[in-house]
Amino acid sequence: MKCPLCKEHIKRNSVKCRFCGTIVDKKTEEIQYIKNGFDKIEAECSNVEKQVSKRSGFIIRWHKFSEEELLEKIEKIETFARKIKADIENWKEMKKPILSLKVFNDDSVKLFYNENARRLHERLERLQEMIQFRHPTVWERIGKVFKIFYFHVVERLLPLITGKMSLGFKRQNKIPGNI
Ligand SMILES: [Zn+2]
Repeated sequence: MKCPLCKEHIKRNSVKCRFCGTIVDKKTEEIQYIKNGFDKIEAECSNVEKQVSKRSGFIIRWHKFSEEELLEKIEKIETFARKIKADIENWKEMKKPILSLKVFNDDSVKLFYNENARRLHERLERLQEMIQFRHPTVWERIGKVFKIFYFHVVERLLPLITGKMSLGFKRQNKIPGNI
């Protein structure tokens, strides 16, 4: 069989992986629950990783998913991981496993969770960097220039000009037309 964490081949019925020390007793419900949860999370991380570089459009190409959308997905992943942690804490409070198939080893469950959580944390950090430092497409760069242009000219300069114009207009109104 394979270690659920490092995927190395280990002897059947091993309780502990000889490579990474993870408890691999498959009969332990808690470990299985955590493993399933993190498997889903890791799969979602892989999805998001692919989505970071996904582009749409033919000539005018844009990133399919915006930075905000991607960061939101990361937040959802974090929420899911927090839910697993909350469940573990609930078991501890109940002082019993979901199903008492074996003597419940509190520490091994905690260690297994911590190892998974640490890996996830590192992966999410890399993912966040990928999102924040991804290269904009040519059109996104043009779009950015346009936004800057829009901000400076339309939002700031134009009201200034029209403001002066209306001011000038008012002044003209005030001055009586002496010929
Ligand atoms: Zn292992």
